[in-house]
Amino acid sequence: LLRVEDLSVAFAGRTVVRGVSFQVDPGETVALVGESGSGKSVTALSALRLLPPAGSNPTGRITLDGTDVLAANEDTLRHLRGGTAGLVFQEPMTSLNPLHTIARQVGEAITLHQPLSGGPLRDRVLHLLHQAGLPQAEDRMGAYPHQLSGGQRQRVMIAAALANDPKLLIADEPTTALDVTIQAQILELLRDLKRRLGMAMLLITHDLQIIHRHADRVVVMKDGEAVEQGATEAVFADPRHPYTRMLLATEP
Ligand code: ATP
Ligand code: MG
Repeated sequence: LLRVEDLSVAFAGRTVVRGVSFQVDPGETVALVGESGSGKSVTALSALRLLPPAGSNPTGRITLDGTDVLAANEDTLRHLRGGTAGLVFQEPMTSLNPLHTIARQVGEAITLHQPLSGGPLRDRVLHLLHQAGLPQAEDRMGAYPHQLSGGQRQRVMIAAALANDPKLLIADEPTTALDVTIQAQILELLRDLKRRLGMAMLLITHDLQIIHRHADRVVVMKDGEAVEQGATEAVFADPRHPYTRMLLATEP
């Protein structure tokens, strides 16, 4: 579904991702793990060419659902972003517009890709909010992001990410900004939705326990390189790279 081959990305001459290759097959969860600054977000954003054009110059090959991402035109990219692949980020407050209601944000995620309006659009918005487990969804359609808790905002982000039945969900530290009990709820929600909707997931996280529970495969990144990858069980049981060993050793 997503194949990244020999990806390198440089900003202003500084290479931050170097020769990274991995793939995500339909329906599977692949985790990207690595310390801060190791290039996880840049790698994930490259899959949809969402990096600032100035300076960044990705090379290599990225194929998403059969499309050559680095060669794609704007129309094709629009189709991939939020259509083929949905996105969930760490802090929903920066991804949601504070001036727009919940219904509007989810509605716009839909209408970017589907010609819905009026009652049918409202029904679809409500369906997505229910699916994402937003409590009192009907009453909250007219609410603004700041009127929701962090976990509720993340549910709205997830509803928007699912708006067009994506084949892949890219989740960049989707629970880092939330407290531990809410983290677990959101992760279980993602896991449940993934299974129910048959999506694949590229999950970026620092948390090895999350990976253990949720990821089929893991890609370990260090200083812009993918230093180790494999089935989660295998990597956890028998880490090959010193950095992976160090990561596993520091886990409580
Ligand atoms: P974290 O766990 O903190 O989110 P990360 O692994 O996601 O870290 P990236 O955001 O991918 O790290 O960043 C990798 C490197 O690329 C960093 O050194 C960062 O400063 C640099 N970088 C990322 N985005 C840009 C940008 N738009 N312009 C210039 N440099 C950037
Ligand atoms: Mg990041």
